[in-house]
Amino acid sequence: MAGTAPVVVVGAGAAGLAAAVHLRAAGVDAVVLEARDRIGGRLLSVPAGAGRRLDLGATWFWDGEADVGALAAGAGLEVFDQHRTGDLMFQPGPRVERVRGNPLDVPSRRIASGMQSLAEALQARLPDAAVRLGEPVRAIAAEADGLVVETPRGAWRAPHVVLALPPALAVHAIAFDPPLDPELAALAAATPVWMGAFLKAVARYPEPFWRARGLAGAAFSHTGPLREVHDMSGPEGAPAALFGFAPLAPGAPTPGADAIRAQLGALFGAEAAEPLEFLLADWRAEPCTTPPGADRLGRYDTYGDPRYRAPAMGGRLHWASTETAQDAPGHVQGALSAGARAAAAAIAGP
Ligand SMILES: Cc1cc2nc3c(=O)[nH]c(=O)nc-3n(C[C@H](O)[C@H](O)[C@H](O)COP(=O)(O)OP(=O)(O)OC[C@H]3O[C@@H](n4cnc5c(N)ncnc54)[C@H](O)[C@@H]3O)c2cc1C
Repeated sequence: MAGTAPVVVVGAGAAGLAAAVHLRAAGVDAVVLEARDRIGGRLLSVPAGAGRRLDLGATWFWDGEADVGALAAGAGLEVFDQHRTGDLMFQPGPRVERVRGNPLDVPSRRIASGMQSLAEALQARLPDAAVRLGEPVRAIAAEADGLVVETPRGAWRAPHVVLALPPALAVHAIAFDPPLDPELAALAAATPVWMGAFLKAVARYPEPFWRARGLAGAAFSHTGPLREVHDMSGPEGAPAALFGFAPLAPGAPTPGADAIRAQLGALFGAEAAEPLEFLLADWRAEPCTTPPGADRLGRYDTYGDPRYRAPAMGGRLHWASTETAQDAPGHVQGALSAGARAAAAAIAGP
């Protein structure tokens, strides 16, 4: 099967969907090809009852991230403040200390239905057929008057392609013909995948019991496996939950659930080790986020590099993931702004 489109967008994360929405607003109906069987990419929310969800990907947005706030408000999503009140638990070594106040959590906002709602709000602005799931892009080749995008299900021809996936993944998973300029390919291969080498653990409880003890649900640890922990409860503490991040050192094994539950127990008391539900998201093991070896990448000065704003392949290939943004690179805000910039470049291009 082969199709044609004015623009093909590779990836239905925040950046790719934002690009498609901006293109549609300009009267350009893009096709979005998504490798996974879901939209959202690093926005992933799982049901937790009563219309609320818990986030296994991005959690927060911050003041000044205007595009995220506007998207949430425009879609009528319930936004609430991250819980910060109470004391921090600190784990400098084998012993755990209670620190007065909470120096770890800065003011931030959350979405009661989960951050994946942002991707869903973008998709709702597109025609039903615009997003095609289960279509991993394997190759992009130049023709006389456009590009050919190949997936296992067929090929798409388009004058412009927006690459809305992490650059290191793009150059790992997609064969470019002719090859990308070596300097650009090297830049992409060296650009870290934001949060691509982290494990996120989410533990749900009947009640936010730590709050009753004057604790913020926040912890910082030098011993691990989790380096930091935060209250992940919904508005008014429902659902009650804690979450933490474990950075995954290159080549090191992923910590197991038992070690993480034991750490939560050491930090917050025995009931923290016995959650109602315990979820782990190992983003290093997600082939549609993190290519092999990306846990060794550390050159964050590649983020927002000006070369990502210069269209490649004769002015027809546009970079759009959060890593390419100048505005809040790494964040959802960066993904939205990079998507908007790539859409504008595709519209202005040859
Ligand atoms: C654990 C974690 C916590 C985070 N916390 C926060 C936070 O609190 N606040 C914040 O602002 N940001 C946070 N982030 C970062 C945030 O999630 C990202 O900035 C944002 O979601 C990136 O969007 P994107 O569209 O650029 O990339 P992605 O979301 O990675 O989207 C890329 C899309 O491309 C698809 N794809 C991959 N390969 C192919 C292919 N070959 N063909 C077709 N499709 C393909 C993928 O499946 C995916 O859907 C966090 C990320 C993680 C993982």
